[in-house]
Amino acid sequence: MADPKKKKSEEENEDEEFLEDELEFEFEESDDDDELSEDEAKKFVKDIADKLYIQERIIEGQKKIIEQYQNKINQLTQQQQSSSLEIALSQEETSYADIGGLDSVLEKIKHFEYGINCPYAYSSYGIDPPKGLLMYGPPGTGKTMVAKAMSNELDCWFLELPLSLIISKYVGEAEQNLEAAIESAKKKYKQTKKKVMLFVDEAEQMFRKKGSHNGHEVVDRCVNVWLRTMDGMGNNEGLIFVAATNYLEKIDDALLRAGRFDYVVEIPKPNLSGVEDIFFKQMDLKERKAGRDIYDVNDFAELSEMMYQRRMTGADIADVLKQASFNQIQYFMKSSADGKPMSKDELMIKDKDLMDVINLYARVKEEKKFVGFNV
Ligand code: ADP
Repeated sequence: MADPKKKKSEEENEDEEFLEDELEFEFEESDDDDELSEDEAKKFVKDIADKLYIQERIIEGQKKIIEQYQNKINQLTQQQQSSSLEIALSQEETSYADIGGLDSVLEKIKHFEYGINCPYAYSSYGIDPPKGLLMYGPPGTGKTMVAKAMSNELDCWFLELPLSLIISKYVGEAEQNLEAAIESAKKKYKQTKKKVMLFVDEAEQMFRKKGSHNGHEVVDRCVNVWLRTMDGMGNNEGLIFVAATNYLEKIDDALLRAGRFDYVVEIPKPNLSGVEDIFFKQMDLKERKAGRDIYDVNDFAELSEMMYQRRMTGADIADVLKQASFNQIQYFMKSSADGKPMSKDELMIKDKDLMDVINLYARVKEEKKFVGFNV
C-alpha cells in the first residue's frame, strides 16, 4: 500500500511546480521585463494600500467640509428668512380716528381687544376670551386698515403673512416658512415685551377648506401649523391672531371653532352716512399729510350721494381723491411748462374735478380698465 503522506507531498510538489509554471507563464506573458522581488511586491501593495487609505481620508474630509458648508448655507437661509420676516414687522400709525363709516364694527373690535387686555374679565365668568379675530366683507372696505389701527391701539407689532409670501418668497417648504415666521414673532415678543399681531390677508387662500386646493397639499399643511399654533401646543404667548377674507364661505370650519378664529365680524360696504364719513376722513387725512388745504368742496352731500349710488367702498373713495390729485398735478405740470405760475385757488381740487373723476372712475371700474388709477 502506498504511503498516503508521501503521496500527498508528491501531489503538493506537482501543484507547486504547476503554479510556478503558471507564474512563469504569466511573467512571460507580461511585457514587463523587470521582475519584482517579494519585498518589492510587498512594498508595492503596501504603497497602494496606503494611498487608498489616504484617499479615503481625503474623501471623508471633503465630505465633512461639504457638510459644514451645507450647514452654513442652511443657517444663513434660516437667518435670511427670519431677518426678512423681522423687517416685515411694523409699528402701524393708522388710527381708529381715520376709519370712516364703521362705528358699530369698531365697537365689536374694541370688545375683542378687551379680551386681550383684560382676559381676567372673561375668566371671572368662567369663559375664555376670544382667541382670533376674523373680518369678512367685500374688498376695499377697510379690513386691513382696521387690523393696522388695532395693532396701533394695542401698541403691538404688526406682521402680515399672506400665503403668497409664505409659499413663493422664501426657499424651502411653506410650512417651514410659516413656522419660521411664527417663531420670529415669538422671538420679537420675548425681546421687546410687545405683542405681535399675526395678520393673514386673503385668508380664504391660507385657510381654504381642506382638500379644495387642487393638489396644493402644502396649504393643508399650513392650516395644520396654524391649528397647532392657535391651540397653544407650541406656547403662543404674545401672539394676536387676526385674519381677513372676502369669502367667509371658503374658510375651513376647523379654523372657526372656539379657541381659534372664534370672533367673526362682518365689514360691509358703507351706507350713505358711511360714505360721507369716509369721504370726510380721507380728505382730512390727505390735508394733514400735505400740511395745507387741498379741497374746495361746496356740495359735499351731492358728491357723497354720487359715490354712494355707485356703491363705492373706502378704497374706491381713497382712489377717487388720489386720481383727482393726479389730474391736478398733470394740469400743474402743463401750466408750469407755459411758465405761468398757478394761483392758490387754481391749486385747489373743486367739486367739478371730483365729479369728473367719480363718473370716469365708475365707468373704468366697470370695464375693469384701471389705467391711471393705480399710480
Ligand atoms: P380691505 O382690507 O378690506 O380690502 P383696505 O383696508 O386694504 O381694505 O383698504 C384700502 C384703503 O382704502 C385703505 O388704506 C384706506 O385708504 C381706504 N379705506 C378703506 N376703507 C376705509 C374706511 N372705512 N375708512 C377710511 N378709509 C378706508
